Amino acid sequence: MQITEIFKSIQGESTYAGLPCVFVRLTGCNLRCNWCDSEYTFTGGRKMSQPEIFAEVQRLTPVGGLVEITGGEPMLQERELLPLMNQLLESGYRVLLETSGERPLARVPADIVKIVDVKCPDSAEGDSFDLDNLRVLNPYDEIKFVLSSRADYEFASDFIREHDLAMRVHAVLFSPAFRKDASGARDSSHCLLDPRQLADWMLADNVPARLSLQMHKFIWDPALKGV
Ligand code: SF4
Repeated sequence: MQITEIFKSIQGESTYAGLPCVFVRLTGCNLRCNWCDSEYTFTGGRKMSQPEIFAEVQRLTPVGGLVEITGGEPMLQERELLPLMNQLLESGYRVLLETSGERPLARVPADIVKIVDVKCPDSAEGDSFDLDNLRVLNPYDEIKFVLSSRADYEFASDFIREHDLAMRVHAVLFSPAFRKDASGARDSSHCLLDPRQLADWMLADNVPARLSLQMHKFIWDPALKGV
C-alpha cells in the first residue's frame, strides 16, 4: 500500500472527536476539493506491506484502540486495504474509515465505521458522491458535510431530507471548511463559514445535524501535519 503517514493524535471530526486515535493516511486522491488541507497526500508516500502497517499501528496503540483509515481517498487502494481492515478488526481494534463515498463502499467490512464526507457544491466536487452507497450505510456510520457557504448549507440540508439521512446513520455532521492556507491562530477566524453563522442557521431550521468543528485545528497550528 502507498502510505503518506501513520501517526497518533486526537480524533478531530466525528462523534469520536476527542479520543486518542492512530491515523493511517493513504496516498492518492481522485478528487480536488477547493479547500483540501491534505494536498500533500496526492503524491509521494512510501510503499508499506500489510504486516509493516499493522506493526506500526500496534507500536502506537494497544489492541482495543481506535484506528482511522484516511487519505487522500483510501478506497482507491481497496484491494490491499480490505485485508488490512479485516486484520485490524479481527485483532480487536475499533476502525473508522474516512472516505468521500465516490468509490463503491459495498465491500467495506460491516464492522468498520464509515465516516462519509459527501462533497458540497462549493468544494468543486459536488457531484462526486455515489448515491448507491446510501444502501450500504449502517446505523453506526456517520455522514459529514464540509460547508463553506449558504449554498453548501442548503445543499446539505436538502440532501438530509431527500435521503432521510437522520434515520439511516448515527450522526450527520456539519463542519465549517477551513482555509487551506490557515496557520497561526488556533481559532475560528480561519473558517470559510463562520461557525456562529452556521449555528444560527441550524437553530432556525431545526436541521437534524450536529455542528462539528475540526478539533485538532483548535489544539495545534492549523498548518501542522501529522496531528
Ligand atoms: S477528497 Fe479529501 S483528500 Fe481528496 S481533495 Fe477532497 S478533501 Fe482533499
